[in-house]
Amino acid sequence: MQTREDQAFWRERAEQLQQALDSRIVIEQAKGILSERFGLGIEGAFGLLRHGARSQRMKIHLLARAVVDTPDTPDPIVSSLARHADTFISVPRDERVVRTEELYKRLNEKIATLLDGGSPTFLCECGNPLCNEPIELHGDDLRMLHSRDGFYAIMRGHEIPDLETVVMENGGYAIVQKGVKAQ
Ligand SMILES: [Zn+2]
Repeated sequence: MQTREDQAFWRERAEQLQQALDSRIVIEQAKGILSERFGLGIEGAFGLLRHGARSQRMKIHLLARAVVDTPDTPDPIVSSLARHADTFISVPRDERVVRTEELYKRLNEKIATLLDGGSPTFLCECGNPLCNEPIELHGDDLRMLHSRDGFYAIMRGHEIPDLETVVMENGGYAIVQKGVKAQ
């Protein structure tokens, strides 16, 4: 037979366990977000979180919560990144840019396949992972463009001048080619 004290004890214990579990989950989510955002491995993202929290004497799950709840990167993370930029940024910039462009290229090819014909909405294939701008382009033009390696359709003005060259521009979009130095 459980006493009132026993019940209170177990209720408190269950709440503590639930809180610990919630903290774990939010930390895992924050690791995933930071890993994506900065092109880091999961370990690097955790290091960023840990350093950020420690430098501000803040509980790690509270910092993780701030990462998960807001689209902006919390200040302790930015400071920590600044202090350890060389170790955290493991993927070179040009590689990250190409990865993003390749992802949007594949996404647009799927859109073209799903909505065969007509003028579906395609997304800018620029190197900014947060860019989700629509571009106006015919599916046939997109397919022709993508039949050769290193060409991407982007919003005008979204090119990254030191990594790619604009080879064509019209009203709705621009075409860039990788690795061709501007004249
Ligand atoms: Zn863009």
